[in-house]
Amino acid sequence: MFSNPWRAWRHWRRQRFLRRYAIGHSLWAQIMRLPMFVGLDAVERARLRELASVFVHDKVWHPKETLVLTDWHRALIAAQACLPGLNLDEKRLQGWRDIILYPAPFWAEHEQVDEAGVVTAERAVLDGEAWLDGPLVLEWQTLEHEAQRRHPHRSVVIHEMAHKLDMGNGRANGMPPLHPDQSRPEWTETFSRAFENLQTRVEHGARHLSLDAYAATNPAEFFAVASEFFFCQPHALHQHEPAVYAQLSAFYRQDPRQRLPHPVSF
Ligand SMILES: [Zn+2]
Repeated sequence: MFSNPWRAWRHWRRQRFLRRYAIGHSLWAQIMRLPMFVGLDAVERARLRELASVFVHDKVWHPKETLVLTDWHRALIAAQACLPGLNLDEKRLQGWRDIILYPAPFWAEHEQVDEAGVVTAERAVLDGEAWLDGPLVLEWQTLEHEAQRRHPHRSVVIHEMAHKLDMGNGRANGMPPLHPDQSRPEWTETFSRAFENLQTRVEHGARHLSLDAYAATNPAEFFAVASEFFFCQPHALHQHEPAVYAQLSAFYRQDPRQRLPHPVSF
């Protein structure tokens, strides 16, 4: 099967790992019934289960406050976190280790330094954070509610993983490391135009927006929110921002519009 002994050994080692540590069948079947996973074929489900099982095992999990961590917590987060990486090099899901999980939205404090060198501490209630070379911070209440919801649904896990992928070239700026067959100028032009349009509409108080207003915060948030829509509401994203959808489809090497049913209404 493998002409290269190194690849054969790695395959054998992966199979041995999966026999011991794969996410259990009944738990996996329960997760695959959730809206965002509908339409994945058998090969994709098996690949996702493999990635998610490795993710559960490789990450160090830190439950906070009253949360008692279970297999359901780990598997539901891992399945969502690995969905964007389904057709990417597995290394893109690696390079960081810790997942901090709160039971509910949490307070976070950060210091900002302005141009005059003044340091300001900002406190905010958050439902997710992704740190450069650091942990992924999530809260269970929102993410479980989002995963169970039919339409429209979002995913804070996919949002934060998009930030992690974006940081693959050093910082979150809305441009992850693209594939060799992708054009950086096309990506920049497409996203800049969509971001500026959304910012203008938000500033003018427009009622109907192509994406959540939060995407107008900066290009990194635009990429993260667009990624959520790409995986959770692909028909809506394609309808309002077809060029952004095409760029994301080329980056993630997936086309969720083909597998998810067209909702009756949003
Ligand atoms: Zn964000």
